Amino acid sequence: MDDNDPMTRTTEAPSVDLAQIIPDLSAYASTTVRLHPRPGSPGPRDSHIGGPLLWPATESWPHCEAPDCDQYPGEDPGSPMVALAQLTAADFPEIAFPEGADLLQILWCVGYHCCSKHAPCRVVWRRAAEVTEILEAPPEPDLEGELPGFYETYIPRPCVLHPERLIEYPWLEDLPDDLKDRVRAWDRDTDLYEDLSTAPGFKIGGTVIHGSAPSGLTCVACDAPATLLLQLDNGEGDGRWCAIEDRDLAYGTPEYEQAYTPTGMMVDVGPGGLFACSADPEHPVLFYSQ
Ligand SMILES: [Zn+2]
Ligand SMILES: [Zn+2]
Repeated sequence: MDDNDPMTRTTEAPSVDLAQIIPDLSAYASTTVRLHPRPGSPGPRDSHIGGPLLWPATESWPHCEAPDCDQYPGEDPGSPMVALAQLTAADFPEIAFPEGADLLQILWCVGYHCCSKHAPCRVVWRRAAEVTEILEAPPEPDLEGELPGFYETYIPRPCVLHPERLIEYPWLEDLPDDLKDRVRAWDRDTDLYEDLSTAPGFKIGGTVIHGSAPSGLTCVACDAPATLLLQLDNGEGDGRWCAIEDRDLAYGTPEYEQAYTPTGMMVDVGPGGLFACSADPEHPVLFYSQ
């Protein structure tokens, strides 16, 4: 049975067009791709959140290497990592893939890390056609005896995606002074800039939700600007951010939960983002959350 929801998802148009009100903002517009994840049964060659990765049977599964990981502290190998996302170049041409790669796989560790500056993430770039025999049953972290409902909230439910492209604008602080002053003056009267400029929920590219990462991040390997690769969020947002197709869902029903909190994840206390080097996608990816 195919339980993959085929319906497209659409964000309501903004109440005002920022680029019309403040034309100089157009130069700072960027495209984000809202993923609109919804629980389903994605296949190993599909783009998805939390589903099966196209992982070669002959390749060992990644384990956490953080020395402060509480899952299997100090053990070698550490806790098996968990699939966060898999994204194909065909679905997401806006992702900067390394030469020859067409599949992006993102894993992370669900253990608690007391002292790491960044949550341990692993990013793998592949050529999908090279994977012929798929690893059937990847190792899973041992959550036996752990606090129920704690680590699980770091493991996303398998979700299919309904990508939608939208225009976003930078944080106020990242605009040049003169433009910042004009936007701030307008925002003082309307208080709309933040809501109009950045989308909540899971998305690729664009601007991370204000305050969930430091401004002006740079690559740890080469110092080039780091740009948002994937935003993770606890929910997909309400108000105008609730997809038009989901507006009639009754509060408290399973369908409502699946639309508002499809992945079942709690990313610490708010949104977070994985940031990739803008000069070389194979440089280390950084993770920040509020
Ligand atoms: Zn760990
Ligand atoms: Zn770099």
